[in-house]
Amino acid sequence: MELKNIFKFNGGVHPNENKSLSSSLPIARLPIPKTLVLPLRQHVGHVAKLKVKVGDQVLKGQIIAEADGNISAAIHAPTSGTILKISEEIIPHPSGLPDFCVTIESDLKDKWIEKKPIAWKKLDSAALIEAISSSGIVGLGGAVFPSHMKLKVNQNQSIETLVINAAECEPFITCDDMFMRETADEIIQGTLIAQTILQAKQCVIGIEDNKIEAYQALKKAAQKTSIEIKIVPTLYPSGDAKRLIYLLMGIEVPKEKRSVDLGIQVFNVATVAAIYRYLELGEPSISRIVTITGNVQNPQNYEALFGTPLSELIEAAGGKLNKTQKFIMGGPMMGFDLPSINVPVTKAMNCVIESSPELFPSPKPVMPCIRCARCADACPVNLQPQELYWFSKSSQLEKAKDYNLFDCIECGCCTYVCPSNIPLVQFYRYAKSEIIAQDKAKEAANTARERNESRLARIEREKKERAEKHAQKALGAQEKNSDDEKKLTIAAAMERVKQTQQENIKN
Ligand code: SF4
Ligand code: SF4
Repeated sequence: MELKNIFKFNGGVHPNENKSLSSSLPIARLPIPKTLVLPLRQHVGHVAKLKVKVGDQVLKGQIIAEADGNISAAIHAPTSGTILKISEEIIPHPSGLPDFCVTIESDLKDKWIEKKPIAWKKLDSAALIEAISSSGIVGLGGAVFPSHMKLKVNQNQSIETLVINAAECEPFITCDDMFMRETADEIIQGTLIAQTILQAKQCVIGIEDNKIEAYQALKKAAQKTSIEIKIVPTLYPSGDAKRLIYLLMGIEVPKEKRSVDLGIQVFNVATVAAIYRYLELGEPSISRIVTITGNVQNPQNYEALFGTPLSELIEAAGGKLNKTQKFIMGGPMMGFDLPSINVPVTKAMNCVIESSPELFPSPKPVMPCIRCARCADACPVNLQPQELYWFSKSSQLEKAKDYNLFDCIECGCCTYVCPSNIPLVQFYRYAKSEIIAQDKAKEAANTARERNESRLARIEREKKERAEKHAQKALGAQEKNSDDEKKLTIAAAMERVKQTQQENIKN
């Protein structure tokens, strides 16, 4: 495939792809699970508001929790059944902490609610965005940001270019690749819908040059449209939105800005296909493609209903082999270790890798930094990772901030190339969390101080008001006393006059 008009960004790495492991078989579909566990928080933003109670019967596609405000996303029943419980369960999150979930016991009938496709060609952008806000669709590339919010553009913004992210640059992950091969038409239709809603003048799909079949499928599906499909080099992290924009357009999004500020919006391939399915077919977001790979018998991609126990997917892939040590959600560069396989498939779960010592050997001993600057050469954000490391390690957090710690996208390129095996990203994560915790503590202290100051001011004001009231009361009493005294004096004087007059009459 030919790379034309591509703007190469600084750094990046080319780790072993390991993609062919899971891309030789078509996407498989699982039988309906007996129970499905749906976390109420599967997206960025507010937790969805519960709309069901234990014992309720639900149909496939029925809303069980609605979006709470704009930055939130609805959750729908992935199949028909009964609400079995609403309780805290372990969810697939790096913290390993439980969160509120709705458990559905499936009736195995998989009976749909009445589907209501939307005549999207007849509606304006505002009406379409309003409709999509109930779809439960979030960024399926991993960002899980509610999609209706990305389609909403401020009055003083306009979108020139819609970029569709088909790069899928992390090793091992092939869910987008397989989805593009098999569902290119839906992706192109969804892209045209997103372009219409955003009123974007142009649209470009960026795909890495290691996905030939997906490229050809997209090219065929897009042949009667003005959508441009551009091939970018296979280089991690080309799938990072800002890196992809640079590769495709040569535009650098400044660190303090978002791409929409420059008239560019980015969507993942699976997300636009979900928009198509919701509007055209009336099907909300209830499933996704998940890559199960690594140390499993049959690495493959599965279309899994949200809430499906991960253990069932692993079983379907032939179960775990000997030597499996742990399970990584996401890719090896940016993923995290799962607390257990007893977690459900969620909107964010694009890939699960069974890790073995052969695939991921134990980290080598950490050596001192030799100031070789390889990390800086590999950093796609043009940071100074070695300096960030020193400042993070020595808790010089202000300095780390000055060196743009918060611009770090935690891509792991620096760690990957470091000859001293320093787990650099872990230091940055630690420093970021410390700074956030300190800022929160400062904010809490400021709030407490402000509250105390306003409390003292209130006490002082009330004291003053009370004193003024007393003074007024005392003055009133004094005035009353002096009035009474005056009256008595006058009465006594009048009495005296009266007596004098009577004595005068007698005499
Ligand atoms: S790559 Fe490692 S050893 Fe080299 S400068 Fe960076 S942190 Fe130091
Ligand atoms: S993890 Fe951060 S510092 Fe390291 S290469 Fe990526 S962006 Fe640069």
